[in-house]
Amino acid sequence: VIEALMVGDYDGVFRMRDALEFGDVGIGCTDRIEAEVVVLDGTPWQCRSDGSCSPLDPEALLPFVEICRFDPEAPVQRLGASTHDDLAAAIDGMLASRNHFHAIRVDGEFERVRIRATPAQTPPYRPLAEVAKEQVEHELVGMTGTLLGFWSPSIYQGITVAGLHLHFLADDRSTGGHVLDVAMHRGTLSVSAYARFDLRLPESGAFLGSSLSGDLDAEIVAVEGRTAH
Ligand SMILES: [Zn+2]
Repeated sequence: VIEALMVGDYDGVFRMRDALEFGDVGIGCTDRIEAEVVVLDGTPWQCRSDGSCSPLDPEALLPFVEICRFDPEAPVQRLGASTHDDLAAAIDGMLASRNHFHAIRVDGEFERVRIRATPAQTPPYRPLAEVAKEQVEHELVGMTGTLLGFWSPSIYQGITVAGLHLHFLADDRSTGGHVLDVAMHRGTLSVSAYARFDLRLPESGAFLGSSLSGDLDAEIVAVEGRTAH
């Protein structure tokens, strides 16, 4: 759950290979939050704080991953020049219900994509809100690529990120990361709705003793998003 990341449970516990049994698109982060993860068309990629990107070893252990099978029949909408707010509004308009989960995919040409990654952490881990102050941001200019992630209902804040949570992966796989802001020239948006989900909790490690309050809305919005949910 995302709140475990917020309180500093950064040790990898879920094997990428096992997560891939549940889907072909997804997002997450690697052990010690060294890299942001994008799973696209069944292949996992890791995007590091230096802006570089490389294939992720299926044996890698992740502290957080969210994955699904993207419905190939999911509705598609063409987008022209769009800001982050325009994109958020377009996604909003395609939600089956604000009480369902949705996987989001945008393939397009981007004027700018602002991404961030956190440097790898070492124990004893500090809370993510503190670590995020040292996050490294990169402004990607003139990129073709894919935005991928989820829109989740407000009541799941803390389990996942409520509202929009998007990662980016460049078509040439040279770069990517957690998305802070985007401006696009054009693209296609697909939104795949889900009325059920499986939640797997860590069965070992710091998670077992972590104090999770379900009350970190402001911190999660500050660290993970820029769009109110
Ligand atoms: Zn992210």
